[in-house]
Amino acid sequence: GETIGILGGGQLGRMLAMAAAQIGYRCHVYAPERDSIAAEVCAAFTCAPWDDAASLRRFAQDCAVVTYEFENVPVAPLAALAPTPLLPSGRALETAQDRLVEKRFVADLGGRPAAHARVDTADDLAAAITAVGTPGILKTRRDGYDGKGQWRIASSADAAALRLPGTPLIYEQLVPFVAEFSVILVRGMDGDIRFWDSAENVHAGGILARSTLPASPLVLAQVPEARELARKVADALGYVGVLTLEFFACEDGPVFNEMAPRVHNSGHWSIEGAITSQFENHIRAICGLPLGDTSLAAARVEMRNVIGDMAEDWPAILSDPANRLHLYGKAAARPGRKMGHVTRITVA
Ligand code: ATP
Ligand code: MG
Ligand code: MG
Repeated sequence: GETIGILGGGQLGRMLAMAAAQIGYRCHVYAPERDSIAAEVCAAFTCAPWDDAASLRRFAQDCAVVTYEFENVPVAPLAALAPTPLLPSGRALETAQDRLVEKRFVADLGGRPAAHARVDTADDLAAAITAVGTPGILKTRRDGYDGKGQWRIASSADAAALRLPGTPLIYEQLVPFVAEFSVILVRGMDGDIRFWDSAENVHAGGILARSTLPASPLVLAQVPEARELARKVADALGYVGVLTLEFFACEDGPVFNEMAPRVHNSGHWSIEGAITSQFENHIRAICGLPLGDTSLAAARVEMRNVIGDMAEDWPAILSDPANRLHLYGKAAARPGRKMGHVTRITVA
């Protein structure tokens, strides 16, 4: 088989590589950290900085196509990958890397993001609070994940007490949502789009805790509008691969939260809960193969993350035949670190 290049060395890369191996592909991981749980299951590993053009060029020469599992890869150095295709494109990556750019892009396509304002200085923050109101959340525009780089602001006094980090920021209204859900789609090279069923997601401390299917009636009623937006985003970007949009389900309809130009934690349930997983369909899409059926393959599916200290009753988890255990093989457990997940499948 051919070799697929993966930028990023975490659990998403690991699960992509496992899906690729199943259908005969070899993977080559490129990541700056020595320890890579993705590289462990791959044929080749380049450990080099993101901006090392010579290493990127050699890596691309070994690959038929390059993809990414991490959305904060610097875009400019990726020019060194040419002529090997990068899928999804650098434009998709660039759009999703900046919360302000992403919200404007989606709003231009008719989506509804939370009320927000750009913040670079303390004066900007005061103005943003006047315009948007409180409570709100101040976020770094770039590099955030799992709720990192976010500060909740209950009042202008909170804001005055904050020491700004000196990087570009965005202030968002704290959306009074009823539920959260995600739309995950795959778009093939021929423009064919398929959606997985939308999971209802529960976060704790900014980190995904649980995804459940089917979602509640309120969410199900909002999925068509959310899918329509996700389709427009994918088409506008000429997107190839798996794309995720996160939404807040509010009384008056779906509010766009953010997008991820990649497979997503709220789609891990699809490994056992769908006919074709998000990982396999991403590989199929970037390799130009026909897409697999995304239908739900169970009556009910619940995925919960294993986060932090690994203090779980493993024998009990493994003894229950409804459970499917996934551990990512990370060497060190830390508070808030995603160590694995458990998917619970109810057949009937
Ligand atoms: P990830 O990329 O890992 O999903 P992130 O760091 O990009 O996370 P967000 O999706 O911006 O973080 O926020 C994490 C969670 O915090 C959201 O899923 C939601 O529960 C809450 N949250 C974030 N922004 C808002 C908002 N404007 N209103 C209400 N809740 C919010
Ligand atoms: Mg995010
Ligand atoms: Mg998020």
